[in-house]
Amino acid sequence: MADWLLYYTDPVYDAAFSLVTESPLLLSHDSDVRILFQLWLNLTVLGAILYLAGASVNFYFFFDQETLKHPKMLKNQVRREIYLSLESLPYTAIVTVPWFYFELKGYSKLYDTLDSWWEIPGAMLGFFLFTDCLVYWIHRGFHHPSVYWWLHKPHHTWKVCTPYSALAFHWLDGYGQSCPAHLYVYLFPMWKPLYMVSFVALQLWSISIHDGIYISNDEILLSCAHHTIHHLEFNYNFGQYTTLWDRIGGSYKKPVQEFANEMYFDKLKRKKEALLHGKVDGGDVGGKQKTGPIATTISAVAAEGMKARRGF
Ligand SMILES: [Zn+2]
Ligand SMILES: [Zn+2]
Repeated sequence: MADWLLYYTDPVYDAAFSLVTESPLLLSHDSDVRILFQLWLNLTVLGAILYLAGASVNFYFFFDQETLKHPKMLKNQVRREIYLSLESLPYTAIVTVPWFYFELKGYSKLYDTLDSWWEIPGAMLGFFLFTDCLVYWIHRGFHHPSVYWWLHKPHHTWKVCTPYSALAFHWLDGYGQSCPAHLYVYLFPMWKPLYMVSFVALQLWSISIHDGIYISNDEILLSCAHHTIHHLEFNYNFGQYTTLWDRIGGSYKKPVQEFANEMYFDKLKRKKEALLHGKVDGGDVGGKQKTGPIATTISAVAAEGMKARRGF
């Protein structure tokens, strides 16, 4: 994949560098300085384009704009999410470059030619299971009190998420959670185009679990409904694609609470609507009856999550 990143952008860099220098360090395609710089800038720019395009399409065409009036939505949250994401990207790209550089030098198991179409489902499944497991444990590790406050808390600033929350991380947090995807192709063979598609799909999935569109209340697939609980209550649903490791690790929480067939987010949505129309006369949070304005009851959800937080 690194060779494509360089090859298709070489003409742009050739033209730009030839305007300002004659040094082979920047003009030669074999120069490590040029390769490292080009990889870094490409990762930064393409990462930003993918993030802004994916999150913006979601935000303007699918995201419920009413969510912006939610009492737990922060002032200027969308702007702050975009700022943190774009601020982090260049740093994330710096530490990501070695993965691409050593891939270019032939250390990965990526390959160009497919021998059989059966290699696709096998590699997809392997990539999916491998990253699902490691992202779970890395994410859970980031909730350890020794690192949580400086590393992962920035992402938990957002109690109610928007599509732009997806990459709104500390740069090392975003990098840490992307490492399993990079590591996979150093351990297992994968067809290059499939890796590229999987990598983009991973980014889009990240956006989708923050977009407030609860398309699934599936028991196996980890959706936005589950990740919403993670942002509100901290100690549940650390997974990325499936609920498997949350179940094994004892951190699974179903989006269905006390009421059969009634989803947690639906309760929040109703309470939000009630707030917009005045006061609610009763709120059921965590099975306890509470009375008062919606802001109070939803704050109680977050407060209970805070009380319950014990790192692991
Ligand atoms: Zn988290
Ligand atoms: Zn999140």
